[in-house]
Amino acid sequence: MTRVLAIANQKGGVAKTTTVASLGAALSALSQRVLVVDLDPQACLTFSLGHDPDKLEMSVHDVLIGEQKIGNVLLDTADGVTLLPANIDLAGAEALLLMRPGREFTLRRALDPASSDFDVILIDCPPSLGVLTLNGLTAADSVIVPLQCETLAHRGVGQLLRTVTEVQQITNPDLALLGALPTLYDARTTHSRDVLADVSDRYGLPVLAPPIPRTVRFAEASASGASILAGRKNKGAVAYRELAANLLKTWTEGGELNTFASYE
Ligand code: ADP
Ligand code: MG
Repeated sequence: MTRVLAIANQKGGVAKTTTVASLGAALSALSQRVLVVDLDPQACLTFSLGHDPDKLEMSVHDVLIGEQKIGNVLLDTADGVTLLPANIDLAGAEALLLMRPGREFTLRRALDPASSDFDVILIDCPPSLGVLTLNGLTAADSVIVPLQCETLAHRGVGQLLRTVTEVQQITNPDLALLGALPTLYDARTTHSRDVLADVSDRYGLPVLAPPIPRTVRFAEASASGASILAGRKNKGAVAYRELAANLLKTWTEGGELNTFASYE
């Protein structure tokens, strides 16, 4: 059974792309066949996995508009994960898709012929709640919301949760909201912890563990196109590996994901 996990938050800079790249590499290291899908016209995931978006002959856009079969567009990456790449063409997909019936189901249908080749599909959603994110949430069976642990981190969370509820009601009743993933976390400040407790109380949203610590290694990795998990002692990589192992455990054995409340 293929697991499809969307990483979504309409806020930019909360580590959606970093989470997809890192979890993808960590799951691949756990012998999972992983496909990562770049759904952001800015194509940061494609770039960070070593492919130049400006040099792509075809991309996820061609698959969404029905011009290419998904198998023709997939790329290998150094991390062992397979990439469905994006480029700026995807900015136009939004307008094209809006005119089509069943537009929220376009990605789900496009992934279908390839999905049995993978154990896990991770979807990197763009920083908006537009038709691309609706496609990501409709194609997924679960969603994680990365959340930066700063004041006002929760602004927009209510709106995102309403969107998830609407998707569950209208296009994808099977979508499970796994919880918020604390990112750019600074364990030295009580402030980070207070923000998370507040989000958890206010929205009844599980906060997942381990939190992903802020570390300069991530910026270095994405700038070099090198594997994000390369530095063995990188504490961010360690946290993503732990999250990957937790996810795999719940997928194979059932049970709940570890939460922040029980982690401390
Ligand atoms: P999003 O996809 O939500 O816009 P990104 O994954 O692109 O967010 O991350 C935004 C920026 O934060 C990038 O420059 C990335 O390298 C950096 N970043 C992400 N996670 C961490 C982390 N744990 N520590 C330090 N920097 C991080
Ligand atoms: Mg991104």
